[in-house]
Amino acid sequence: MSSSSEKIIIIGAGVVGLSTAVELLQHGYMVEIFDQQQAAKAASWAGGGILSPMYPWKYHSAINQLAKFGKQSYLALNEKLQPITGIDFEIEQGGMLIFDHDQFDLGLNYAQHFHEPEQQAYLVHRHEIQKINSQVNTEIDAAVYFPQLSNIRNPRLTQSLLTYVLQHPHARLHTHTPIQKISIAAARVNAIYDTSGNRYRADQYVIATGAWTAQLMAQFNVHLDIQPVHGQMVLYKTPPKWLPTMCMNNTMYLIPRRDGHIVCGSSTNHFGFHQELHEEISQNIIQSALSLVPELSKFPVVKQWAGLRPGSPTGVPKICKIPQCENAWCNAGHYRNGLVMAPASARLLREQMQGLATWVDASPYQWAG
Ligand SMILES: Cc1cc2nc3c(=O)[nH]c(=O)nc-3n(C[C@H](O)[C@H](O)[C@H](O)COP(=O)(O)OP(=O)(O)OC[C@H]3O[C@@H](n4cnc5c(N)ncnc54)[C@H](O)[C@@H]3O)c2cc1C
Repeated sequence: MSSSSEKIIIIGAGVVGLSTAVELLQHGYMVEIFDQQQAAKAASWAGGGILSPMYPWKYHSAINQLAKFGKQSYLALNEKLQPITGIDFEIEQGGMLIFDHDQFDLGLNYAQHFHEPEQQAYLVHRHEIQKINSQVNTEIDAAVYFPQLSNIRNPRLTQSLLTYVLQHPHARLHTHTPIQKISIAAARVNAIYDTSGNRYRADQYVIATGAWTAQLMAQFNVHLDIQPVHGQMVLYKTPPKWLPTMCMNNTMYLIPRRDGHIVCGSSTNHFGFHQELHEEISQNIIQSALSLVPELSKFPVVKQWAGLRPGSPTGVPKICKIPQCENAWCNAGHYRNGLVMAPASARLLREQMQGLATWVDASPYQWAG
């Protein structure tokens, strides 16, 4: 496929759609992006931005294969985009303490076996924990410390991607434009239609619609098991640098931002497409956060929200051509790790669209059969 004259339509302006757009623009394509609401305000805004799967040893290797490029890719991208967009993603490299005793051996073995720079890990005891992070509950006697783990301020990341796209002469964005119908004939998409009946055409089409993807896939007569998984967050405001590391216990985590905001979460529930907050879930998050960092109780909760993860059964996204269609592609189903996997997913999709050898094995992300 020759890039310069090709126009690609991308449906979905979350981190996955926008990263795909940036990747394609940087390789000479023209892109037109659609979102049913404001761009970059769904899961990609709501997420925590941890640049690693939580407990990578619990995840499919296909997730870790993409996730391990997250931090380096974002460091490079931040450097490249910041002069253009004026936005810093604020990649915080404070490391993470995890406190579940039953995960210690697994975490240490994983670090020893895979030698991934991000997953270096050390067992630390009370005295060392307090030196690393003096806000941790002094009753906690041991932790595994991952000094290289980082987080990204995801609302700034998506704002930067969006700003880059908006200033690009070969990009066009339509917000508040839900795509309702995909017209397919002779194994090709020939147009898409929004809910007002407006028609849009391109050479190639990418579906990056997160939790909403199954609905559009049905029009290709393809079943894709992606369900919305509700995740709730609680935001505290402390002084800058008050909490020096991320902290995690089971699936509850605290993520410090550079300016002292601390994002605490999260929950996983199947409530359909409802995004309401649940008081009981908030209380669980707060209790869990305070059990790790008791002094947090002195600071105010400044915001709460919920988002819908694109939940797929294994958490492995589909990054491939849509079956029986020559010019439509899927980049969706990243579940709990879409922020960290987005740069590698975008590159993998672009390479397949160009018919190139892919930089990582693409087979885990294809449709079975
Ligand atoms: C509480 C929470 C915490 C998380 N923490 C982390 C974390 O620490 N690290 C990590 O890597 N990941 C995390 N995630 C997961 C991550 O946020 C998601 O995997 C990722 O944002 C998915 O990106 P996306 O672009 O596929 O989906 P989205 O950001 O949801 O974007 C999809 C877009 O498609 C649009 N759309 C849908 N249908 C249509 C249509 N028919 N027409 C037009 N537009 C349409 C939507 O409006 C939306 O803007 C978290 C998620 C949540 C909710």
